[in-house]
Amino acid sequence: MSTELKIVAARLHRVRMPLVHEFQTSSHRKAFLDHILVELEDASGATGWGEIASSSDPYYAPETVESCWHIASQYLLPAVLDRPWTHPDQLAAVWSKVRGNNFAKAGVDTAAWVLYAGANSVPLATALGGKRTEVVAGVSLGIEPTIDDLLTQVDTQVAAGYPRVKLKIAPGWDVEPVRAVRAAYPDLDLHVDANGIYTADDLKLLQELDEFGLTMIEQPFAPRDLLTHARLQRTIETPVCLDESIETVDDLQTALQLEALQVLNIKVSRMGGLTPAREAHDRAQAAGIPVWCGGMHEFGIGRVANVALSSLAGFTLPSDVSASEKYYARDVIEPAVVAVEGVVQVPGGTGLGHAVDRALIEANTVAEFALGPEQE
Ligand SMILES: [Mg+2]
Repeated sequence: MSTELKIVAARLHRVRMPLVHEFQTSSHRKAFLDHILVELEDASGATGWGEIASSSDPYYAPETVESCWHIASQYLLPAVLDRPWTHPDQLAAVWSKVRGNNFAKAGVDTAAWVLYAGANSVPLATALGGKRTEVVAGVSLGIEPTIDDLLTQVDTQVAAGYPRVKLKIAPGWDVEPVRAVRAAYPDLDLHVDANGIYTADDLKLLQELDEFGLTMIEQPFAPRDLLTHARLQRTIETPVCLDESIETVDDLQTALQLEALQVLNIKVSRMGGLTPAREAHDRAQAAGIPVWCGGMHEFGIGRVANVALSSLAGFTLPSDVSASEKYYARDVIEPAVVAVEGVVQVPGGTGLGHAVDRALIEANTVAEFALGPEQE
């Protein structure tokens, strides 16, 4: 695949979408999400779409929608304009001098991959090297007001066919909700995610979770605290999974060396795009570490990119690629992502493999930015 591409116009659309069900994590509650859609247009007139799925607040990662807007509009889009390229790796190299800001980079990188796949007449998954034609999806459930509310949510998702359920945990909402869900579903693939809220003082409490046969305990400690993750992993059977800790392939190498994880959550946004996400997958696979694809409540564009990435061979655990309808009444792509009995089909059409609903995007746009001939 060596079609030469040149981006002649680049646009950002800040789009606000209402959530079907308010979501509570250890740090915040949300009724709608603003994500930035990235649209790159090639000299041929073809477009590639990507999604900057940053939270509005700097609680999951240091970035916000505002900081992403600044970095994408002032640094990333100007860097990719009018530059010939044949593979997305070459564009990733162009913006490598921008430190961090992985969510902003991820949206631009994904748009470049979609453009590249389309120009070479292959599905995005094929361009990435994926072989799987379907992906098993898991769902993630927030902190509910009561354990009964949580059980109702679990009932709904299990009835919908999702084979894996992840529970957000936080101090005061950990051992007891897990015990209740495990009692109701003895064989369910169940895992917990703490988003880094515990400290070394909580080691004993986290060890109590070992008796519930969880598939993994995800990111119990702060992102940079790899040593305590390694300490916990030495004392429990349950695999420790890292999410926030791994922003670069170098972070992964360090964590592997420290034996701080047995499972890796790869998020396209957190790693800075499909290019580094693919590399992290390859490293983890070489180290015998199973991976799965985490989500940031993406709209359809980012969601489909996650599905395509999850088609790579090392994604052996269910990914956060549940159906659009779990989050959004109507999605920005057509058709929306659907899960049948917890399984999502990898799109077989070229490029993104779904049509982008421009009318819906326009109706929900709260800000726009454009670079290209008509702006000069
Ligand atoms: Mg997580």
